[in-house]
Amino acid sequence: MLGLMQSQPLLISSLIEFADRHHGDAEIVSRRVEGDIHRYTYKDLAARARRLANALDGMGLQFSDRVATLAWNGYRHMEMYFGVSGSGRVLHTINPRLHPDQIAWIANHAEDQVLCFDLTFLPLVQAVHAKCPTVKKWVALCDADRLPADSGIPGLTSYEDWIGAHSPDYAWPEFDENSASSMCYTSGTTGNPKAALYSHRSTTLHAYAAALPDVMCLSARDSVLPVVPMFHVNAWGIPYSAALTGCKLVFPGPAMDGKSIYELIEAEKVSYAAGVPTVWQMMLGHMKPAGLKFSTLKRTVIGGSACPPAMIHAFKEDYGVEVLHAWGMTEMSPLGTLCTLKNKHLALPKEEQMKVLLKQGRAIYGVDMKIVGADGEELPWDGKTYGDLLVKGPWIVDSYFKGEGGHPLVKDAQGRGWFPTGDVATIDADGFMQITDRSKDVIKSGGEWISSIDIENIAMAHPAIAMAACVGMPHPKWDERPIVAVVRRPGAEVTREELLAFFEGKIAKWQIPDDVVFVEAIPLGATGKMLKTKLREQLKDYKLPGL
Ligand code: AMP
Repeated sequence: MLGLMQSQPLLISSLIEFADRHHGDAEIVSRRVEGDIHRYTYKDLAARARRLANALDGMGLQFSDRVATLAWNGYRHMEMYFGVSGSGRVLHTINPRLHPDQIAWIANHAEDQVLCFDLTFLPLVQAVHAKCPTVKKWVALCDADRLPADSGIPGLTSYEDWIGAHSPDYAWPEFDENSASSMCYTSGTTGNPKAALYSHRSTTLHAYAAALPDVMCLSARDSVLPVVPMFHVNAWGIPYSAALTGCKLVFPGPAMDGKSIYELIEAEKVSYAAGVPTVWQMMLGHMKPAGLKFSTLKRTVIGGSACPPAMIHAFKEDYGVEVLHAWGMTEMSPLGTLCTLKNKHLALPKEEQMKVLLKQGRAIYGVDMKIVGADGEELPWDGKTYGDLLVKGPWIVDSYFKGEGGHPLVKDAQGRGWFPTGDVATIDADGFMQITDRSKDVIKSGGEWISSIDIENIAMAHPAIAMAACVGMPHPKWDERPIVAVVRRPGAEVTREELLAFFEGKIAKWQIPDDVVFVEAIPLGATGKMLKTKLREQLKDYKLPGL
């Protein structure tokens, strides 16, 4: 017997329709590429997304055709999230920090038909447009009077002219909720990037889950600043969850430095912000010397790479801001786990609670996870045994766009497919997962594994250290030994010996790095994560002491 409830496909258009009807006057504030602050409401956004949908219909774009963006976080980008996907096309958010050749490669691979870009990226578009034959329309996300006269890009149109010529009346089409809605290429540290192709169903379910109290806990009372870029896994799904909850949204545009972010938080009474650790490092670096405090910020989600405990402490103790440590990946839309306490933890002393909060957290409903050994057998949840982390759920990839990378899923005894994350982790008896490493970054010393993340966290707790990256170096006896590359804070002094002494008592003696290398900067990838492959290249002539 089937249930007798209404059957309604889960479509992205329903999110913006909901925001339009029920939170029409909630504000969306954007710092623009033009430098000024722009304000409007969800009602305005919905009307302009419908204009965009009409514009896409008007140029004869077919269902599932790809529309790409090279854009910062801002209201026009948000309109594209809804106008493109809502009308049945696929939004392809391209990471502008990639190399131009990579950008051309992925635009061709995705067969993008339209590419809309912020003027910041004009030089980039000028460099790649001739290599992107599938793109039939180039659109600059600006007013007509800002359009460069002599761009060299054939038929370059201003977004405002383009959508302004179309009506805001549009009936969002109904179609299969499993239809593709958007796509995002993985950071791809090896080989060509592969694309996760999200669906309306996966995105909508993820939006519901992300808003839950033990996940991002978003509400109509929040003022939310996604610093995490909209070109990095859909800004962790915040644009969709925002429409679902009707929170005020604040977009930072291109100004991602510590000072600008801090000022925006204060000016727009931001209560909740989300971003990778490097962004917060810059902001705290700006605030501390000036003695600045937050007046409204209450919570911040930090993820994308391991959040150093020193940062969690600083937010909580110095600024009264709760840090929610999150873990996920492009292939997971991206949310997998988030760290919040359970009821049983509330009676624990603060230091014990902190030990829990440093982990990557508990699975969100919709995601199941397990750790397995080399034989594929599931390992115990004892908080000590580590293994390869596998996940499954309705917003996790089954396979990649165009079948690249074959069939990534690993089948269990019941024939269910699990996605191997490439992360190594422990899970404790309460279900809290802790990442020890990327499988390729784990350091294997004398048959034992050393977590590079543990070493980095300790180094970064030293007051003179701004950033640390630990890599394994070949060793004839131990196979590999860890060394730590560090960047000193401006004006701070610390010697190699002092830093090595700082590790004593914090980890086992044999896990302490063999050496410290002082560097000007740690190479960062396009999404702000440390690029250890590049660091290893830079250190290719390095020799461990005594060898
Ligand atoms: P991406 O698909 O570029 O978002 O990268 C996903 C990878 O980033 C994961 O597989 C992890 O290796 C890493 N990552 C994301 N969040 C965290 C976190 N909170 N702690 C440690 N590693 C993380």
